[in-house]
Amino acid sequence: MSGSDETMAGFSLALSDDVRQTRDWLHEFARDVMRPAAAEWDEREETPWPIIEEAAKIGLYSLDFFATQWMDPSGLGMVVSFEELFWGDAGIGLSLAGSGLAAVAVASNGTDEQIGEWLPQMFGSPGDVKLGAFCSSEPDAGSDVGAIRTRAVYHEATDEWVLTGTKTWATNGGIADVHVVVASVDPAFGSRGQATFIVPPGTPGLSQGQKFRKHGIRASHTAEVILDDVRVPGRCLVGGKDRLDARLARIAGGGSAGEQAAMKTFERSRPSVAAMAVGVARAAAEYATQYATQRVQFGRPIGQNQGVAFMLADMHAAVDAARLLTWRAAWMARHGLPFEHAEGSISKLVAGETAVRVTEQAIQILGGNGYTREFPVERWHRDAKIFTIFEGTSEIQRMIIGRAVTGLDVR
Ligand SMILES: Cc1cc2nc3c(=O)[nH]c(=O)nc-3n(C[C@H](O)[C@H](O)[C@H](O)COP(=O)(O)OP(=O)(O)OC[C@H]3O[C@@H](n4cnc5c(N)ncnc54)[C@H](O)[C@@H]3O)c2cc1C
Repeated sequence: MSGSDETMAGFSLALSDDVRQTRDWLHEFARDVMRPAAAEWDEREETPWPIIEEAAKIGLYSLDFFATQWMDPSGLGMVVSFEELFWGDAGIGLSLAGSGLAAVAVASNGTDEQIGEWLPQMFGSPGDVKLGAFCSSEPDAGSDVGAIRTRAVYHEATDEWVLTGTKTWATNGGIADVHVVVASVDPAFGSRGQATFIVPPGTPGLSQGQKFRKHGIRASHTAEVILDDVRVPGRCLVGGKDRLDARLARIAGGGSAGEQAAMKTFERSRPSVAAMAVGVARAAAEYATQYATQRVQFGRPIGQNQGVAFMLADMHAAVDAARLLTWRAAWMARHGLPFEHAEGSISKLVAGETAVRVTEQAIQILGGNGYTREFPVERWHRDAKIFTIFEGTSEIQRMIIGRAVTGLDVR
């Protein structure tokens, strides 16, 4: 495994001063601003604009913050940050992080001009915050990203692309300023004939469809996005037309297409999503531990029973294991090491399943209290479930890992 061979030389668990300071700063925001507001925004099921504004004011909700964490030389800046924010609250956390996925889609495949033009418009500035949305999923193309039917047709005379289709499950969909949309440019090439487009703010033809009422992460807006003859300038094709034409020519000539655009985005963002799950799991493990040392039954703290203490031991061990896998994947991604053994998927699978299990155990340890909305663990359990679904379900992660370990075309 790459985790134990010489490619991991240089991997260290010692955080740099910068990352430690950022973590501590975010922890304060998560503890003092996010946690106290979490139950309210969960009930309201609305984007927590005042908290996004507050985060913008202190420089947390900003392109500069995301870029700094993304570029952190150790690779751990982003995952440490996300763990802290999602420890605070996952719904509000995703409202703060949602624009990041759209930004990554442009940053990982786009030109310098595109990055410079569009990323600032996904975050805005204090007093004028903006959002980005990444729109890949469709009603008939969830796990099967290759089944995307949204079409992008090029009109040479006007140098415009015309997008038509329906996207679904888009975080910030319809309320975002900048939408990043994956579409098929050549259906004959299936998933290899896809490209990613930027839809600028206020473009006619883009509208929000149904807004979903959800089980968890309810402060994060999730909705359909309808694209009805949406015209975008040629410069909105992520990566540019020359690169797309060269890729399509390679495919037509029987060559390799490289990775699908959407897949590339998901691959790079998986450790970040794993870190979000670690944050939720850690919150639950800590809360349950404190509760177990205080709640007395049979004349002793419930944590003194092996039945409870062993559960706590398993919870803490699982959180630590998930974090280590997450840090490994993030470190590898930063150092340009390919996930040959599906390390990104392993981190996402383990962290997502850990979050669900640990939050469920936390409810068990709180007993009746755990099952009520007077205590946060039921919300964390609802929130945790998303991590086995979005950014590739657990089954899809297992499929990717299964392929990596067997070398077979596992389906
Ligand atoms: C809250 C939320 C936010 C989201 N945000 C975004 C976003 O911002 N942008 C975006 O593009 N998408 C987003 N998504 C979509 C998300 O990525 C998809 O829901 C996810 O990929 C699964 O697709 P699906 O829901 O269509 O399920 P399906 O693909 O229909 O899967 C249903 C079940 O079948 C299983 N399954 C499917 N294929 C296989 C297989 N080959 N082998 C084994 N099992 C299989 C799945 O694992 C799952 O258990 C979001 C979803 C949610 C719920």
